[in-house]
Amino acid sequence: MIVVDLRCTICGRFILIPGCHTCPPLWDVVRPDYEDEDYPQNTIRCDDAEDAVLEYADDKFSDWEYPTNIEIWARLHDVIDAEWQKFNIGVESVPSFSIYERM
Ligand SMILES: [Zn+2]
Repeated sequence: MIVVDLRCTICGRFILIPGCHTCPPLWDVVRPDYEDEDYPQNTIRCDDAEDAVLEYADDKFSDWEYPTNIEIWARLHDVIDAEWQKFNIGVESVPSFSIYERM
């Protein structure tokens, strides 16, 4: 592990105490019915499966304009026979406001 500017070069997190850092695990993340769970193409480094799924959803679906529910699975990347943890994600549109002073 090489430390540059007190950030881990693998996970990017700040290293507060050199020599005491452990990277969070790598997760496979898939959207079943749209991606092949036997050959997952997305990996995300996070503390747990929920965070990995939420990061995937934020990356892929944050620009959707209508609410929907999406099924997303995550499993540990480097663990043989790791079980998929399955989640339903609710995607909601968020209103935004702009203002103009009337003349
Ligand atoms: Zn790290």
